[in-house]
Amino acid sequence: MGPRASAIRAVLPAMTDPLVPRMRWWGWGVEGHDAPLPRAATGLLRDELGVGGARAAPVALDRVELPAPQLDKELRARLAAAVGGAGHVRDDHLTRITHAAGRSYPDLVRLRSGRGLVAPDAVVYPKDHDEIAAVLTLCAAESVAVVPFGGGTSVVGGVEALRGPHRAAISLDLARAAGLHQLDERSQLATFGAGTTGPELERILNARGLTLGHFPQSFEFSTVGGWAATRSAGQASTGYGRIDELVVALRAATPSGELRTLSVPASAAGPDLRELLLGSEGVLGVITEVTLRVRAQPAHQRFDAFALPGFAAATDALRALEQAGAAPDVARLSDEEETRISLALSSSPAAARLLRAYMTARSRPCMTILGFDGGRADIAHRRRRAKAILRRHGAIALGPAPGAAWAKGRFHGAYVRDELLGRGVFVETLETATTWTQLTALHDAVATALRTALAQRGTPAVVMCHVSHLYPTGASLYFTFFARQQPGEELEQWQAAKQAASEAISAAGATITHHHAVGRDHAPWLEQEIGELGLAALKAVKQRVDPAGVMNPGKLLG
Ligand SMILES: Cc1cc2nc3c(=O)[nH]c(=O)nc-3n(C[C@H](O)[C@H](O)[C@H](O)COP(=O)(O)OP(=O)(O)OC[C@H]3O[C@@H](n4cnc5c(N)ncnc54)[C@H](O)[C@@H]3O)c2cc1C
Repeated sequence: MGPRASAIRAVLPAMTDPLVPRMRWWGWGVEGHDAPLPRAATGLLRDELGVGGARAAPVALDRVELPAPQLDKELRARLAAAVGGAGHVRDDHLTRITHAAGRSYPDLVRLRSGRGLVAPDAVVYPKDHDEIAAVLTLCAAESVAVVPFGGGTSVVGGVEALRGPHRAAISLDLARAAGLHQLDERSQLATFGAGTTGPELERILNARGLTLGHFPQSFEFSTVGGWAATRSAGQASTGYGRIDELVVALRAATPSGELRTLSVPASAAGPDLRELLLGSEGVLGVITEVTLRVRAQPAHQRFDAFALPGFAAATDALRALEQAGAAPDVARLSDEEETRISLALSSSPAAARLLRAYMTARSRPCMTILGFDGGRADIAHRRRRAKAILRRHGAIALGPAPGAAWAKGRFHGAYVRDELLGRGVFVETLETATTWTQLTALHDAVATALRTALAQRGTPAVVMCHVSHLYPTGASLYFTFFARQQPGEELEQWQAAKQAASEAISAAGATITHHHAVGRDHAPWLEQEIGELGLAALKAVKQRVDPAGVMNPGKLLG
């Protein structure tokens, strides 16, 4: 087993009964996986945001307010019959809460306060395509909204159990519809049930010397069906490709029947149905099986870090790497602010010393981390090429330590967020993508919009950004921002920041989302991105496959 597999293994949550909620109900991870803040971080929060004081706990589980479930006995019994028994339909308090929200900041605020949650009337656990199809047929006939639920890690309101005009809403949890269905090692194709989580999927593939190479930060809990339904991008997408490049074929159940695409390497048979299902966010139907392009697990992984003189020069260096075909598998470039914060919190003294020295000489550097997967000789060759290009752009090598530290903590950020919320910090992320030509202007516009919107509410912010997915024509921008929370007005504060950033993104002609998807939060911006006719065309498809409109109302198409 290569180094990648062992690094991933260290963070796997314990395998549990698929009907037991995987994540703790009020935050990220399982109980006991807290992430206490280092002293340097508490100092930063106090000095820069004015945040201090005691830590607030979430409300007690039994104080979480939910409306009474609306599903009548007869319908519940028919759903149970469709999914193999009453044990696979649940409406207890904990199960409903764990399916009432994803993991965006507003979700976490609602969960922790126990107020404002939109919970499903019941959670239904089908085991395979046929059971899913039976549930959809029943729900369409009985006017019950269906919200597909993978890992529940949506950060755009995708799993909120909105009922729309229907008489009830169920969450369709795909945890039982998991596992390897088929493996064609010769063609490097693996078909998985939609509910397979990242760790399960890699465990199965790694046992055969294979990997998918898709590691979103939510990897521990998100599912292959969720990845496909949201067009997810993993941390190594520069090398391995986004999930849309890794999905070869799909099978989906819709209220009007089955949709499936062929496992062929390419096709000229008209517009691509696979592309229509990718990113469909449960509004057309449920993706039940995903066939993926897998590859041999890399034998080695090497990281390098560099300091570059400012964001504009640094993005130009990454552009040069990508366009020369010399990009690494993992490419992460922090802007000046993210570099400053990483430096303040750095646990790698050698890199921090070097970066500090560089900072005094050149002022405000940007740190970039490159990760290379493969055989020893191949990695050596690629590193030499990349280094030569970066040096021509003024880069100074910082050694392997920052990259190794990043790899070790690659899934850690989500745990820290819970701790920050408990301490009264507003912390949220958002992302977009644009061309190389527009990248720095977009970066400045979004950062300014966020700072201004939050300052207008009297809460100065730290706004930082990184580039983490490279393409020959452009790249993504991923913003993380922090401010002092406004007690009692947390959602208004979030809305002000979100609105300002979304307007800046839209005005710049960039995409409203590079990989978080549309869900509920970005739905008002979709028409601006794809046009009135574009939106109408998607709605027409929905009308054909879901005439009763029961599939995930209020998401994606509004
Ligand atoms: C801490 C954190 C880090 C994250 N990091 C990343 C990242 O690095 N890259 C990234 O791309 N995203 C990231 N995300 C966002 C999220 O994890 C992704 O959108 C992920 O793909 C969602 O997968 P899931 O299984 O949790 O889906 P869910 O959250 O359960 O569902 C997402 C949407 O897809 C629908 N859906 C789910 N399964 C199906 C299915 N089988 N068929 C049809 N519709 C379905 C749901 O109804 C919902 O609308 C992150 C989120 C968090 C909280």
